[in-house]
Amino acid sequence: MSVPTLHSALLIDGHLVDGDGIAESIINPASGEVLTQIAEASLEQVEAAVIAAHRAFSSWSRTTPAQRAAVLLAIADAIEQHADPLSRLEALNCGKPLHLAREDDLSATADVFRFFAGAVRCQQGQLAGEYIPGHTSMVRRDPVGVVASIAPWNYPLMMAAWKIAPALAAGNTLIFKPSEHTPLSILALAPLLADILPPGVINILCGGGEGVGSQLVGHPKVRMVSLTGDIVTGQKILQSAARTLKRTHLELGGKAPVIVCNDADLAAVVQGVRTYGYYNAGQDCTAACRIYAQAGIHDRLVAELGEAVASIRFARKKDADNEIGPLISARQRDRVASFVERALGQPHIERVTGAAAHSGAGFYYQPTLLAGCKQSDEIVQREVFGPVVTVTRFDELSQAVDWANDSEYGLASSVWTQNLDKAMQVAARLQYGCTWINTHFMLASEMPHGGLKRSGYGKDLSSDSLQDYSVVRHIMARHGQQLD
Ligand code: NAD
Repeated sequence: MSVPTLHSALLIDGHLVDGDGIAESIINPASGEVLTQIAEASLEQVEAAVIAAHRAFSSWSRTTPAQRAAVLLAIADAIEQHADPLSRLEALNCGKPLHLAREDDLSATADVFRFFAGAVRCQQGQLAGEYIPGHTSMVRRDPVGVVASIAPWNYPLMMAAWKIAPALAAGNTLIFKPSEHTPLSILALAPLLADILPPGVINILCGGGEGVGSQLVGHPKVRMVSLTGDIVTGQKILQSAARTLKRTHLELGGKAPVIVCNDADLAAVVQGVRTYGYYNAGQDCTAACRIYAQAGIHDRLVAELGEAVASIRFARKKDADNEIGPLISARQRDRVASFVERALGQPHIERVTGAAAHSGAGFYYQPTLLAGCKQSDEIVQREVFGPVVTVTRFDELSQAVDWANDSEYGLASSVWTQNLDKAMQVAARLQYGCTWINTHFMLASEMPHGGLKRSGYGKDLSSDSLQDYSVVRHIMARHGQQLD
């Protein structure tokens, strides 16, 4: 793959400037090679970005929905016009197969901007009227203020779109901080955003969580913090945000249960889990990673899925041949390996396929399927965030639903059966932000995405997200004399 231009400049108050903080190595996880060094924002640059966003708020917040929609559409167009270098950077920085970065990530990113351009022009709400005689009430939705948006590394551009598009559409200004591992694609977008948006409306700062991230969260002029990340990070942010009573929007981890009933279409389940359990090397908060298989289908599922998973293509020379990439870092690969090692230390857990790091270059881990897992096992309870799927056998469906719900997480789930009555009953009982029936992982820009329990709160995508990035206000006018 030819190397696209690597941008290093941050975006502060409309200016592209190099960071004044320490330089961090940016690694290509598919090879382990250092791609470039990116200097983080200094304390003074964080301050300058927040002040710029604060200043820009008074005019941006008073633009009309149509004006903001035009800007979002221009961003979507710019993303599409630069899809080639952007997807190359995404592939390089995450190790993803280029064809997937291009077909999946880039098109979804542009679509999110287009969706919010439309959604902001047709919001709905309560009717204005006389709820107290002689007084007319109406409800407004106004922006929150300066938003700090903090993103993870698994889908850098797409996560940026999920955060930037609704925040801007609702009339906020923001400071966006990508993961310290994956700043390259958003830094390439920065000059395009600088051309489209007035100075200060969006600022892009690189840096680590404990440095730039926590400075943003603690800043008194930041009114809202939006995080997609780990549960522990969410907890730290909540503690810090409490000091200034900031609004928070938290999209945290997941451990999606996949309930497979005896009457499921076995071929569809196998194909579905092969795809949605291992997509992005399992570095996905909705990954179909925790199978509960009913006794009548269990053995066939384990056998057929084992073969299917062993056929997942990765680490091949020709990009188009690859279905998944590596883990983001050596640390993440080792973390995945130690989860699997501890699991296989349990006598009841069986390795069906995988369970080893790849021997060549890069941070690859073999797609892994473990069977015989019990509900109380660590590998069933904790998010691995890697290409590892477990299978647990069940007899009664109510048992599977109880086990599925017996989790700290509450983001995504699925149920597989050819009986729609059964599927609907299970879907109603699952305590997850999303339940798919006979599929998994499908996201639509129009539909809300977000968790329950420790998976966080707040919705991404959909008009619900616009509500999260705005505040409801009541305006009441007392009338003068009655007409008659
Ligand atoms: P992470 O929590 O380590 O980092 C996420 C972001 O938070 C990074 O930008 C990081 O620099 C920043 N950060 C870390 N500590 C911080 C602090 N104290 N103050 C402010 N910012 C801080 O998560 P990650 O490893 O990048 O991403 C993986 C996690 O994200 C997984 O748990 C995954 O499930 C979750 N995730 C959730 C969703 C969702 O929609 N719910 C989507 C993608 C990823």
